[in-house]
This record gives sequence, C-alpha cells and structure tokens, in this order.
Amino acid sequence: ATPTAVMVATGKGATQGVLIKGGNALEKAHKVKTVVFDKTGTLTVGKPTVVSAVLFSNYSMEEFCTMATAAEANSEHPIAKSIVEHAKRFLKKFGSTEHVVEAKDFEVHTGAGVSGRVGDKMVLVGNKRLMRDYNVLVGPEVEQYVSENEKLARTCVLVAIDGKVAGSFAVTDPVKPEAARVISYLHSMGISTIMVTGDNWATAEAIGREVGIDKVFAETNPMGKADRIKELQMKGLTVAMVGDGINDSPALAAADVGMAIGAGTDVAIEAADIVLMKSNLEDVVTAIDLSRKTMSRIR
Ligand code: ADP
Ligand code: MG
Repeated sequence: ATPTAVMVATGKGATQGVLIKGGNALEKAHKVKTVVFDKTGTLTVGKPTVVSAVLFSNYSMEEFCTMATAAEANSEHPIAKSIVEHAKRFLKKFGSTEHVVEAKDFEVHTGAGVSGRVGDKMVLVGNKRLMRDYNVLVGPEVEQYVSENEKLARTCVLVAIDGKVAGSFAVTDPVKPEAARVISYLHSMGISTIMVTGDNWATAEAIGREVGIDKVFAETNPMGKADRIKELQMKGLTVAMVGDGINDSPALAAADVGMAIGAGTDVAIEAADIVLMKSNLEDVVTAIDLSRKTMSRIR
C-alpha cells in the first residue's frame, strides 16, 4: 500500500481503538488464514473466581487458606488473585486473627504455578504438572475431583504442603460475551480458528466447545505456543495470534500479525503489531477488515 493509504488506515483504526504499529502488520492482516487465540484473558474474561475449596488432608480450612494465600501473595497471575481474594474473604468471615503472611523463597513456575516457604512448610500452588515436577503424588481421590471439575470447564488448582496434596481450589473464568460470535464470524470470512493454552486439556476443550473454535492445543508453555504458530506458517499459512499475557509474547512475536488485548500485560503489548485498545474480540475482525479494504483499494 502507498504510505498515504497506510496512514489513512492507521488513523481510521486508531479512532476505532485498533492501534496498528506499522504498515507491515496492516499489509499482512488481509492475508490471514488462521487466527490463534490464547484462552485465559483472551477468549475468557480473565477474572477467574474460586467456586469451591476442598481439603484432602487434616489441615483446617483456615490453615489451608492462609498457606495458599501466602504462596500466591506475590504472583501476578489472575488465578493467584482469585485465590487470595477467596481466602481473605474466608478468613475474615470466620473471624480469623491470622493475618496474611508472604512466602519466603517465592518462585514463579510459568504455566504451572508458584512455590514458596511458609513458616517451616514448603507450599506449592498450581496444576498437576507442578506437582509432577516436585514429585508430589496425585492420588485417585484428587484425580477424580480434578477431572469432574475440568469437564465443567473449571480449572483445579492444587495446593501441596510439605510434599502432599492438601486441598484444591476450583476456579471458573467465564468466556467473553462476544467470543462465540467473533469465532463464527471469522469462519464466515474463510478464516480458521485455534486455541492455545497453558491450561489442561479437559478445561480447554470444554471452553473450546463453548465458543465453537476449530481446534484446541492445551498444556502448552510459552515456547510451545510460538512453535504452534511456526508450524502453521510452515504450511504456508499467514497466521494471526491474539493474546494478553507474558506467556503469549513469544507467540505474538512469531505470528505474522500479533494482536494484543489492550487490558493485557505490557510485555504482550510490546510484542504485538496491533493493540486492541477496547479489549473486545470483535476488533480482531475490525483489524482484518481494515487491512482487506486498504489492500483491495490499492490493487
Ligand atoms: P493460559 O495460557 O491459559 O493464559 P497459563 O500458561 O498462565 O495459562 O497457566 C497455565 C496453568 O498453570 C493455569 O491454568 C494454572 O492451572 C497454572 N498456573 C499458572 N500460574 C499459576 C498460579 N500463580 N497459581 C496457580 N496456578 C497457576
Ligand atoms: Mg492469557
């Protein structure tokens, strides 16, 4: 496109809250054949809430909540925030005098959870992969609880204290109201859709069905997300990636057109070519449309 056409289209995008960082992204977007979406915070609202907490040990709910909160206190992950909020509410309701402590030796395990030391206890909060990495046994009772919840599109966060699963928080994160509509609109434009997520297969597939997405890849770490993009590109497809998290930034950078959710993390916004300022998925269509119109006008 001519510099003028690019300038006009970029300006038009900006007024609609679609920030296009350069002519290159605008010129590529009309060729997009596949749109890859992250799940948490992209297809879903990204504000998970704890819907139940169960114990698989002799700790009291009060002790359990205190330790989980301590471990999650310094995590930026939305799941961590939901656990801290739930636990604080629980502790307050039962008039607990224990105040929230912060874990020592706090560590983030991207796409898996967190670990830390609370008093003399080693606390892990995260998914089954985290448990496996620390050789924590996930018994049949826990397995069953987890799989029942995953079929309901809930994510189960396991809490291990001193190497044993002490309990779990079941978390739900509703899909965005426009998600299914946007997916079906993209299909009508001849564009296929894929979800890549760090979350587990059962939850991811339940969400995928809810929004009508073509394909799901779950239990994928940040580099794995980027690899999925590269695989599609090797088939000769022009690929767009839509994401919000630090964990999406390698994939956003690898994609032909990286689109960041405006409400997402700074790292994702930096890695992307286009920023959807309103955080509304409909603007994925707005961006592709704008490119299609710009490119057809000059041809
Ligand atoms: P997504 O790709 O869907 O944005 P992430 O890669 O951030 O998800 O995380 C993948 C999974 O790892 C989560 O669904 C959760 O089970 C677990 N996880 C990651 N961080 C945390 C945390 N701070 N606390 C508990 N669980 C976590
Ligand atoms: Mg995300």
